[in-house]
Amino acid sequence: MADKPNQKQVDTIAARANGYTDPNSGGVVPPIQPSTTFLRDDAYNLVVPENSYGRDNNDQVRLAEEILCSLEGGQDTLLFATGMAAIAALVEPLKSGDTLLLQSGCYWGTTAYLRKVCAHREIALIEADATDTSAFCESVASERPKLVLVETPSNPWIRLCDVPRISQACKNSGSLLAVDATAATPVLMQPLQLGADIVMHSATKAINGHSDVLAGVLTCKNQNSEHWQEIMAHRAGGGAILSAHDAWMLIRGMRTLPLRIERMCENALAIAEFLSSHAAVQEVWYPGLSSHVDHALADQHMSGGYGYLMSFLVKGGREEALTFCRYLDGIHRATSLGGTESLVEHRHTIEGELTGCPENLIRLSAGIENKKDLINELDQALRSI
Ligand SMILES: *Cc1c(COP(=O)(O)O)cnc(C)c1O
Repeated sequence: MADKPNQKQVDTIAARANGYTDPNSGGVVPPIQPSTTFLRDDAYNLVVPENSYGRDNNDQVRLAEEILCSLEGGQDTLLFATGMAAIAALVEPLKSGDTLLLQSGCYWGTTAYLRKVCAHREIALIEADATDTSAFCESVASERPKLVLVETPSNPWIRLCDVPRISQACKNSGSLLAVDATAATPVLMQPLQLGADIVMHSATKAINGHSDVLAGVLTCKNQNSEHWQEIMAHRAGGGAILSAHDAWMLIRGMRTLPLRIERMCENALAIAEFLSSHAAVQEVWYPGLSSHVDHALADQHMSGGYGYLMSFLVKGGREEALTFCRYLDGIHRATSLGGTESLVEHRHTIEGELTGCPENLIRLSAGIENKKDLINELDQALRSI
Protein backbone atom coordinates (compact mmCIF):
# COMPACT_ATOMS: atom_id res chain seq x y z
CA MET A 1 0.00 0.00 0.00
CA ALA A 2 3.01 2.29 0.33
CA ASP A 3 3.59 5.21 -2.01
CA LYS A 4 0.20 4.90 -3.67
CA PRO A 5 -0.72 8.42 -4.77
CA ASN A 6 -4.03 9.52 -3.30
CA GLN A 7 -5.34 10.99 -6.54
CA LYS A 8 -9.10 10.57 -6.26
CA GLN A 9 -11.46 12.42 -3.98
CA VAL A 10 -12.89 10.55 -0.97
CA ASP A 11 -16.38 10.17 -2.44
CA THR A 12 -14.94 8.59 -5.60
CA ILE A 13 -12.66 6.23 -3.63
CA ALA A 14 -15.55 5.16 -1.40
CA ALA A 15 -18.18 4.71 -4.11
CA ARG A 16 -15.86 2.49 -6.19
CA ALA A 17 -14.25 0.59 -3.31
CA ASN A 18 -10.92 2.07 -4.44
CA GLY A 19 -11.51 0.87 -8.01
CA TYR A 20 -11.91 -2.82 -7.12
CA THR A 21 -13.21 -5.36 -9.62
CA ASP A 22 -13.07 -9.12 -9.18
CA PRO A 23 -10.49 -10.60 -11.57
CA ASN A 24 -12.06 -14.08 -11.44
CA SER A 25 -15.74 -13.37 -12.02
CA GLY A 26 -15.63 -9.87 -13.49
CA GLY A 27 -17.92 -8.77 -10.68
CA VAL A 28 -17.86 -5.12 -9.73
CA VAL A 29 -18.08 -6.10 -6.06
CA PRO A 30 -15.76 -8.48 -4.21
CA PRO A 31 -16.75 -12.04 -3.33
CA ILE A 32 -16.60 -13.26 0.28
CA GLN A 33 -13.85 -15.82 0.80
CA PRO A 34 -14.34 -17.13 4.35
CA SER A 35 -11.60 -19.78 4.32
CA THR A 36 -9.48 -19.83 7.46
CA THR A 37 -6.61 -21.61 5.73
CA PHE A 38 -5.00 -21.50 2.29
CA LEU A 39 -3.35 -24.04 0.01
CA ARG A 40 0.30 -24.77 -0.62
CA ASP A 41 1.46 -26.30 -3.91
CA ASP A 42 3.54 -29.48 -4.32
CA ALA A 43 6.76 -27.48 -3.85
CA TYR A 44 5.19 -26.31 -0.59
CA ASN A 45 4.85 -22.70 -1.69
CA LEU A 46 1.69 -20.79 -0.89
CA VAL A 47 -0.61 -20.80 -3.91
CA VAL A 48 -1.41 -17.13 -3.20
CA PRO A 49 1.63 -15.70 -1.39
CA GLU A 50 -0.39 -13.22 0.76
CA ASN A 51 -2.76 -15.91 2.03
CA SER A 52 -1.57 -18.44 4.56
CA TYR A 53 -3.89 -18.48 7.57
CA GLY A 54 -6.97 -16.43 8.40
CA ARG A 55 -5.56 -14.90 11.58
CA ASP A 56 -2.84 -13.15 9.60
CA ASN A 57 -4.97 -11.71 6.86
CA ASN A 58 -7.75 -12.26 4.37
CA ASP A 59 -8.72 -10.76 0.99
CA GLN A 60 -11.69 -8.79 2.33
CA VAL A 61 -9.69 -7.25 5.17
CA ARG A 62 -6.93 -6.25 2.76
CA LEU A 63 -9.39 -4.55 0.40
CA ALA A 64 -11.14 -2.71 3.24
CA GLU A 65 -7.72 -1.60 4.50
CA GLU A 66 -6.73 -0.30 1.06
CA ILE A 67 -9.92 1.75 0.85
CA LEU A 68 -9.36 3.21 4.32
CA CYS A 69 -5.69 3.89 3.59
CA SER A 70 -6.64 5.83 0.45
CA LEU A 71 -9.31 7.78 2.34
CA GLU A 72 -6.75 8.84 4.98
CA GLY A 73 -3.84 9.42 2.61
CA GLY A 74 -1.70 7.13 4.78
CA GLN A 75 1.02 4.55 4.15
CA ASP A 76 -0.51 1.48 5.73
CA THR A 77 -3.77 0.50 7.44
CA LEU A 78 -4.71 -2.31 9.81
CA LEU A 79 -8.24 -3.37 10.67
CA PHE A 80 -9.15 -4.86 14.04
CA ALA A 81 -12.13 -6.72 15.44
CA THR A 82 -13.34 -3.59 17.34
CA GLY A 83 -12.31 -0.02 17.97
CA MET A 84 -11.02 -1.01 21.41
CA ALA A 85 -8.89 -3.76 19.85
CA ALA A 86 -7.30 -1.00 17.73
CA ILE A 87 -6.65 1.06 20.89
CA ALA A 88 -5.19 -2.03 22.58
CA ALA A 89 -2.86 -2.58 19.60
CA LEU A 90 -1.85 1.07 19.62
CA VAL A 91 -0.57 0.87 23.21
CA GLU A 92 0.79 -2.67 22.92
CA PRO A 93 4.34 -1.49 22.03
CA LEU A 94 4.57 0.52 25.30
CA LYS A 95 6.79 -1.07 27.92
CA SER A 96 7.27 -0.75 31.63
CA GLY A 97 8.76 2.67 32.37
CA ASP A 98 7.29 4.34 29.26
CA THR A 99 4.92 7.29 29.52
CA LEU A 100 1.52 7.61 27.83
CA LEU A 101 -0.08 11.05 27.63
CA LEU A 102 -3.84 10.76 27.21
CA GLN A 103 -6.35 13.52 26.61
CA SER A 104 -8.67 13.81 29.58
CA GLY A 105 -12.36 13.83 28.73
CA CYS A 106 -12.11 11.46 25.79
CA TYR A 107 -14.27 8.37 25.18
CA TRP A 108 -14.83 6.77 28.57
CA GLY A 109 -14.13 3.23 27.30
CA THR A 110 -10.65 4.31 26.20
CA THR A 111 -9.87 6.02 29.52
CA ALA A 112 -11.11 3.12 31.64
CA TYR A 113 -9.19 0.56 29.58
CA LEU A 114 -5.92 2.52 29.47
CA ARG A 115 -5.97 3.20 33.22
CA LYS A 116 -6.05 -0.56 33.82
CA VAL A 117 -3.47 -1.48 31.20
CA CYS A 118 -1.02 1.19 32.32
CA ALA A 119 -1.37 0.18 35.98
CA HIS A 120 -0.76 -3.50 35.13
CA ARG A 121 2.23 -2.80 32.92
CA GLU A 122 3.82 -0.04 34.98
CA ILE A 123 3.39 2.50 32.20
CA ALA A 124 3.13 6.05 33.53
CA LEU A 125 -0.29 7.40 32.47
CA ILE A 126 -0.77 11.15 32.40
CA GLU A 127 -4.26 12.46 31.69
CA ALA A 128 -4.27 16.09 30.61
CA ASP A 129 -6.67 18.55 29.00
CA ALA A 130 -5.71 18.61 25.31
CA THR A 131 -7.96 21.60 24.65
CA ASP A 132 -5.54 23.78 26.65
CA THR A 133 -2.98 23.59 23.85
CA SER A 134 -0.12 25.42 25.54
CA ALA A 135 -0.33 23.44 28.78
CA PHE A 136 -0.71 20.17 26.86
CA CYS A 137 2.35 20.95 24.69
CA GLU A 138 4.31 21.80 27.84
CA SER A 139 3.42 18.36 29.22
CA VAL A 140 4.67 16.80 25.99
CA ALA A 141 7.94 18.73 26.30
CA SER A 142 8.52 17.99 29.98
CA GLU A 143 7.33 14.36 30.12
CA ARG A 144 8.58 13.27 26.67
CA PRO A 145 5.89 10.56 26.45
CA LYS A 146 6.45 7.67 24.10
CA LEU A 147 2.84 7.96 22.90
CA VAL A 148 0.31 10.81 22.95
CA LEU A 149 -3.35 9.95 22.32
CA VAL A 150 -5.98 12.62 21.67
CA GLU A 151 -9.55 12.48 20.40
CA THR A 152 -11.06 15.12 18.17
CA PRO A 153 -13.93 15.95 18.25
CA SER A 154 -14.13 14.31 21.66
CA ASN A 155 -16.97 12.13 22.90
CA PRO A 156 -19.18 13.28 24.69
CA TRP A 157 -17.62 16.70 25.45
CA ILE A 158 -17.41 17.56 21.72
CA ARG A 159 -14.13 19.50 22.02
CA LEU A 160 -11.52 19.74 19.28
CA CYS A 161 -7.81 19.88 19.89
CA ASP A 162 -5.12 21.62 17.91
CA VAL A 163 -3.51 18.62 16.18
CA PRO A 164 -0.94 20.66 14.17
CA ARG A 165 0.42 22.41 17.28
CA ILE A 166 0.38 19.25 19.38
CA SER A 167 2.12 17.33 16.57
CA GLN A 168 4.90 19.94 16.50
CA ALA A 169 5.44 19.50 20.24
CA CYS A 170 5.47 15.72 19.75
CA LYS A 171 8.09 15.96 17.00
CA ASN A 172 10.30 18.10 19.24
CA SER A 173 10.20 15.54 22.04
CA GLY A 174 10.33 12.37 19.94
CA SER A 175 6.77 11.37 20.88
CA LEU A 176 4.36 9.54 18.61
CA LEU A 177 0.99 11.28 18.13
CA ALA A 178 -2.15 9.18 17.66
CA VAL A 179 -5.56 10.75 16.99
CA ASP A 180 -8.94 9.09 17.50
CA ALA A 181 -11.08 10.81 14.86
CA THR A 182 -14.14 8.56 15.14
CA ALA A 183 -16.53 11.51 15.39
CA ALA A 184 -15.11 13.10 12.23
CA THR A 185 -14.39 10.15 9.88
CA PRO A 186 -11.79 10.55 7.08
CA VAL A 187 -14.44 12.33 5.04
CA LEU A 188 -14.37 15.42 7.28
CA MET A 189 -10.87 15.30 8.75
CA GLN A 190 -7.59 13.64 7.85
CA PRO A 191 -5.41 13.84 10.97
CA LEU A 192 -2.33 12.43 9.17
CA GLN A 193 -2.38 15.54 6.96
CA LEU A 194 -2.60 17.67 10.14
CA GLY A 195 0.58 16.11 11.52
CA ALA A 196 -0.56 12.97 13.37
CA ASP A 197 1.54 9.80 13.09
CA ILE A 198 -1.35 7.36 13.48
CA VAL A 199 -5.08 7.90 13.05
CA MET A 200 -7.57 5.62 14.78
CA HIS A 201 -11.30 5.11 14.25
CA SER A 202 -13.97 2.94 15.69
CA ALA A 203 -15.27 1.79 12.29
CA THR A 204 -18.24 0.42 14.22
CA LYS A 205 -19.55 3.98 14.06
CA ALA A 206 -20.04 6.10 10.92
CA ILE A 207 -17.42 4.37 8.75
CA ASN A 208 -19.52 1.20 8.60
CA GLY A 209 -22.55 3.27 9.46
CA HIS A 210 -25.28 0.64 9.67
CA SER A 211 -24.97 -0.48 13.32
CA ASP A 212 -24.24 -4.05 12.20
CA VAL A 213 -20.43 -4.44 12.25
CA LEU A 214 -17.89 -4.03 15.06
CA ALA A 215 -14.53 -2.88 13.71
CA GLY A 216 -11.55 -0.68 14.51
CA VAL A 217 -8.87 0.79 12.29
CA LEU A 218 -5.38 2.28 12.55
CA THR A 219 -3.64 4.07 9.67
CA CYS A 220 -0.06 5.29 9.84
CA LYS A 221 2.09 7.90 8.19
CA ASN A 222 5.26 5.82 8.41
CA GLN A 223 4.93 2.06 8.07
CA ASN A 224 8.61 1.48 8.76
CA SER A 225 8.46 2.91 12.27
CA GLU A 226 9.27 0.46 15.02
CA HIS A 227 5.93 1.22 16.70
CA TRP A 228 3.96 0.30 13.55
CA GLN A 229 5.94 -2.89 13.05
CA GLU A 230 5.09 -3.91 16.61
CA ILE A 231 1.42 -3.12 16.06
CA MET A 232 1.46 -5.38 12.97
CA ALA A 233 3.09 -8.17 14.91
CA HIS A 234 0.53 -7.72 17.69
CA ARG A 235 -2.42 -8.10 15.35
CA ALA A 236 -1.02 -11.32 13.91
CA GLY A 237 -0.05 -12.68 17.33
CA GLY A 238 -2.87 -11.26 19.45
CA GLY A 239 -5.38 -12.25 16.79
CA ALA A 240 -7.87 -9.36 16.89
CA ILE A 241 -8.40 -9.34 13.12
CA LEU A 242 -11.73 -8.61 11.47
CA SER A 243 -13.63 -11.57 10.04
CA ALA A 244 -14.03 -11.89 6.26
CA HIS A 245 -17.81 -11.41 6.55
CA ASP A 246 -17.48 -8.27 8.66
CA ALA A 247 -14.82 -6.84 6.34
CA TRP A 248 -17.12 -7.48 3.39
CA MET A 249 -19.99 -5.69 5.17
CA LEU A 250 -17.62 -2.82 5.95
CA ILE A 251 -16.59 -2.51 2.27
CA ARG A 252 -20.25 -2.36 1.34
CA GLY A 253 -21.05 0.17 4.06
CA MET A 254 -18.17 2.44 3.13
CA ARG A 255 -19.39 2.92 -0.44
CA THR A 256 -21.98 5.39 0.86
CA LEU A 257 -19.86 6.87 3.67
CA PRO A 258 -19.37 10.34 2.09
CA LEU A 259 -23.06 10.52 1.13
CA ARG A 260 -24.19 9.51 4.61
CA ILE A 261 -21.80 11.96 6.23
CA GLU A 262 -23.10 14.80 4.07
CA ARG A 263 -26.68 14.11 5.14
CA MET A 264 -25.77 13.46 8.79
CA CYS A 265 -23.88 16.76 8.99
CA GLU A 266 -26.79 18.62 7.42
CA ASN A 267 -29.21 17.03 9.92
CA ALA A 268 -26.86 17.60 12.85
CA LEU A 269 -26.49 21.30 12.08
CA ALA A 270 -30.26 21.74 11.71
CA ILE A 271 -30.85 19.88 14.99
CA ALA A 272 -28.15 21.88 16.82
CA GLU A 273 -29.66 25.16 15.63
CA PHE A 274 -33.13 24.01 16.61
CA LEU A 275 -32.00 22.89 20.08
CA SER A 276 -30.08 26.15 20.64
CA SER A 277 -33.26 28.16 20.51
CA HIS A 278 -35.43 25.70 22.47
CA ALA A 279 -36.81 26.85 25.80
CA ALA A 280 -36.16 23.45 27.45
CA VAL A 281 -32.49 23.36 26.45
CA GLN A 282 -29.74 24.97 28.47
CA GLU A 283 -26.72 24.47 26.19
CA VAL A 284 -25.78 22.79 22.88
CA TRP A 285 -22.28 21.57 22.06
CA TYR A 286 -21.82 21.19 18.30
CA PRO A 287 -18.74 22.49 16.46
CA GLY A 288 -20.88 23.78 13.60
CA LEU A 289 -22.50 26.42 15.81
CA SER A 290 -20.64 29.75 15.68
CA SER A 291 -21.14 29.91 19.45
CA HIS A 292 -19.09 26.71 19.96
CA VAL A 293 -15.78 27.27 21.70
CA ASP A 294 -13.89 25.31 19.01
CA HIS A 295 -15.80 26.58 15.97
CA ALA A 296 -12.70 28.27 14.52
CA LEU A 297 -10.58 25.11 14.99
CA ALA A 298 -13.32 23.07 13.33
CA ASP A 299 -13.20 25.42 10.34
CA GLN A 300 -9.44 24.88 10.12
CA HIS A 301 -9.41 21.11 10.61
CA MET A 302 -12.69 19.85 9.15
CA SER A 303 -14.04 20.27 5.65
CA GLY A 304 -17.45 19.39 4.31
CA GLY A 305 -19.25 19.60 7.65
CA TYR A 306 -18.89 19.53 11.41
CA GLY A 307 -19.78 15.93 12.14
CA TYR A 308 -22.79 13.96 13.27
CA LEU A 309 -22.23 14.02 17.00
CA MET A 310 -23.42 16.57 19.54
CA SER A 311 -24.24 16.83 23.20
CA PHE A 312 -26.81 19.10 24.82
CA LEU A 313 -27.87 19.92 28.35
CA VAL A 314 -31.57 19.98 29.08
CA LYS A 315 -32.76 22.47 31.67
CA GLY A 316 -32.99 20.68 34.99
CA GLY A 317 -31.15 17.55 36.11
CA ARG A 318 -31.16 13.79 35.79
CA GLU A 319 -34.94 13.48 36.04
CA GLU A 320 -35.60 15.99 33.26
CA ALA A 321 -32.99 14.34 31.01
CA LEU A 322 -34.48 10.89 31.54
CA THR A 323 -38.00 12.24 31.05
CA PHE A 324 -36.89 13.67 27.70
CA CYS A 325 -35.49 10.24 26.75
CA ARG A 326 -38.66 8.46 27.90
CA TYR A 327 -40.94 10.63 25.75
CA LEU A 328 -38.87 10.28 22.59
CA ASP A 329 -40.95 8.52 19.97
CA GLY A 330 -38.96 7.51 16.89
CA ILE A 331 -35.37 8.37 17.76
CA HIS A 332 -33.94 5.36 19.60
CA ARG A 333 -32.49 5.35 23.11
CA ALA A 334 -29.29 3.35 22.65
CA THR A 335 -25.57 3.65 23.00
CA SER A 336 -23.22 4.01 19.99
CA LEU A 337 -23.21 6.54 17.18
CA GLY A 338 -22.73 7.03 13.47
CA GLY A 339 -25.56 4.80 12.18
CA THR A 340 -28.19 5.69 9.59
CA GLU A 341 -30.66 5.95 12.48
CA SER A 342 -30.34 8.78 14.99
CA LEU A 343 -29.58 7.71 18.56
CA VAL A 344 -29.67 9.49 21.89
CA GLU A 345 -27.91 8.48 25.05
CA HIS A 346 -27.99 9.63 28.66
CA ARG A 347 -24.23 9.39 29.18
CA HIS A 348 -24.29 9.77 32.95
CA THR A 349 -26.14 6.45 33.24
CA ILE A 350 -23.21 4.82 31.39
CA GLU A 351 -20.23 6.71 32.80
CA GLY A 352 -21.44 7.37 36.36
CA GLU A 353 -19.72 9.90 38.60
CA LEU A 354 -16.12 9.22 37.57
CA THR A 355 -15.90 11.46 34.52
CA GLY A 356 -17.84 14.50 35.67
CA CYS A 357 -20.42 13.99 32.92
CA PRO A 358 -23.39 16.26 33.74
CA GLU A 359 -26.58 14.44 34.72
CA ASN A 360 -28.61 16.58 32.31
CA LEU A 361 -26.37 15.76 29.32
CA ILE A 362 -27.83 14.01 26.30
CA ARG A 363 -25.54 12.83 23.53
CA LEU A 364 -27.13 12.75 20.10
CA SER A 365 -25.87 11.03 16.97
CA ALA A 366 -27.66 12.42 13.92
CA GLY A 367 -28.67 9.84 11.32
CA ILE A 368 -29.85 10.24 7.74
CA GLU A 369 -33.60 10.52 8.41
CA ASN A 370 -35.64 13.49 7.25
CA LYS A 371 -34.66 16.40 9.45
CA LYS A 372 -38.26 17.61 9.82
CA ASP A 373 -39.16 14.30 11.48
CA LEU A 374 -36.11 14.45 13.73
CA ILE A 375 -36.83 17.99 14.85
CA ASN A 376 -40.51 17.21 15.46
CA GLU A 377 -39.60 14.14 17.54
CA LEU A 378 -37.09 16.12 19.61
CA ASP A 379 -39.52 18.99 20.07
CA GLN A 380 -42.31 16.70 21.21
CA ALA A 381 -40.06 15.02 23.81
CA LEU A 382 -38.63 18.33 25.03
CA ARG A 383 -42.16 19.68 25.49
CA SER A 384 -43.00 16.65 27.63
CA ILE A 385 -40.38 17.42 30.27
C1 LIG B 1 -16.99 3.67 20.17
C2 LIG B 1 -15.72 4.37 20.28
C3 LIG B 1 -14.53 3.66 20.53
C4 LIG B 1 -14.50 2.17 20.72
O1 LIG B 1 -14.86 1.49 19.57
P1 LIG B 1 -15.60 0.03 19.57
O2 LIG B 1 -15.75 -0.26 18.13
O3 LIG B 1 -16.89 0.21 20.31
O4 LIG B 1 -14.69 -0.91 20.28
C5 LIG B 1 -13.34 4.40 20.59
N1 LIG B 1 -13.33 5.73 20.45
C6 LIG B 1 -14.47 6.44 20.22
C7 LIG B 1 -14.38 7.93 20.05
C8 LIG B 1 -15.70 5.79 20.13
O5 LIG B 1 -16.81 6.49 19.92
